[in-house]
Amino acid sequence: MILPEAVRYIIEKLYKGGYEAYAVGGCVRDSIMGVRPHDWDVCTSARPEKVLELLSSKNIIEGGLKHGTVTVSIDGSLYEITTYRSDGEYIDNRHPDSVRFITSLEDDLSRRDFTINAIAYNDKAGIADPFHGEDDIRDRIIRTVGDTDKRFSEDALRILRALRFSSRLGFTICEETSDSIIKNAHLLKNISQERITSEFLQIINGDYAEEILMKYSSVISVFIPEITAMIGLEQRNPHHIYDVWEHTVKVVVNSPKGRVSRLAAFFHDISKPECFFTDDSGVGHFKGHPEKGAYLSEKIMKRMKLDNKTISSVKKLIMYHDLRPEANEKNVRRLLSQIGNEAFEELMLLKKADASGQNPDMLEYKLEYIDRLTGIYKELTKNGERFTVDSLCINGSDLISLGLKPGKRIGMILEMLLDMVIDGNAKNEREVLIAQAKRIIDSECSKTE
Ligand code: ATP
Ligand code: MG
Repeated sequence: MILPEAVRYIIEKLYKGGYEAYAVGGCVRDSIMGVRPHDWDVCTSARPEKVLELLSSKNIIEGGLKHGTVTVSIDGSLYEITTYRSDGEYIDNRHPDSVRFITSLEDDLSRRDFTINAIAYNDKAGIADPFHGEDDIRDRIIRTVGDTDKRFSEDALRILRALRFSSRLGFTICEETSDSIIKNAHLLKNISQERITSEFLQIINGDYAEEILMKYSSVISVFIPEITAMIGLEQRNPHHIYDVWEHTVKVVVNSPKGRVSRLAAFFHDISKPECFFTDDSGVGHFKGHPEKGAYLSEKIMKRMKLDNKTISSVKKLIMYHDLRPEANEKNVRRLLSQIGNEAFEELMLLKKADASGQNPDMLEYKLEYIDRLTGIYKELTKNGERFTVDSLCINGSDLISLGLKPGKRIGMILEMLLDMVIDGNAKNEREVLIAQAKRIIDSECSKTE
């Protein structure tokens, strides 16, 4: 294992002061897997005040001191150095009532969540792996350190951490840990929404999210109970071969990674259960589910403390996800005026993912249709054209120069001009729009005379 120079420096400094120090946790796990760690954590037998003293020549960022963590900045990167500790009794399934500094590396490793995260390394002592995490990395297994039920009831967030690592790495959660996750999932009620949301976003963005969402839907439903009605809801429609939940999961993994795109996929059919009905011939329909879903998902995302910008982007995609206008320039321009160019691109990707989670016999023509819309969009916007009022080649001041008084009329006339551009009755060019504006103003004047 090759430690970065800064980590070697930290470890050496601590050893020179008479203490032990190791790289630990995710960075060791990733290095063993041959993946470049995104950051490096160090654990040490030195108490925080000693760590501060021994690294006083470096830029120290204080903050986590009372939990035993000193953060140093070296060459622009941050390194967390945490004193070996054992957590006291946990209260509320989340907070240890005390943190005790200790001197045994093994005891520090024993408080860590999973065997794959409980490995330490330094160049002097080599690997310390009392819980056989290396074997579990090799066998691609996630297993708690110590008594499984106890570990999840100490800190229920570990339940979602297990799903997150499995979704990211594709590791199997071992049977005992998996059973305990399902059994203890209700304890997530005691975990703050922010921490849940952060893990949830990582779970739906993992390469292996499909397996996790399918197997652990009951865990997700603890904090998003609205999904419960989707699970097992057969769609009874020739377009679909999966129930609403399985379809949703497929759309999630077929969507590009990213907060907005994966959330939109996750929530796009959230209102299908409440909109479901069968017609006289027994075929299932979900009339109105995009609009209802947009509002329901907004409510859920607010509860999940997602930011307003994310919520409004997701909501827009859900609102429009099922729209299927005939593929022509006018319709694409209209849609662009409603949602904007960026959302249009995201919408096309969502629609593709949506189609990929439906009956494969109909996939080809659905994809062809989306490609046609996209082709028209590309042609219409090849020079960065946009189809909104503020991208018109004239603005309110131009209309005032033509003799109009400031006020509501200005906005209405600009909307009329935009409509003309969208319908293909006028080009978005200054002279053309000025002429059209004059015509509108004149005709209004003659009406009022
Ligand atoms: P990532 O690659 O996502 O950063 P990580 O394993 O480094 O994964 P962190 O959340 O950065 O995860 O935590 C660092 C280490 O601290 C973990 O590897 C684990 O040893 C320990 N740890 C973190 N959270 C917990 C927890 N809730 N319970 C027990 N140990 C934890
Ligand atoms: Mg980490």
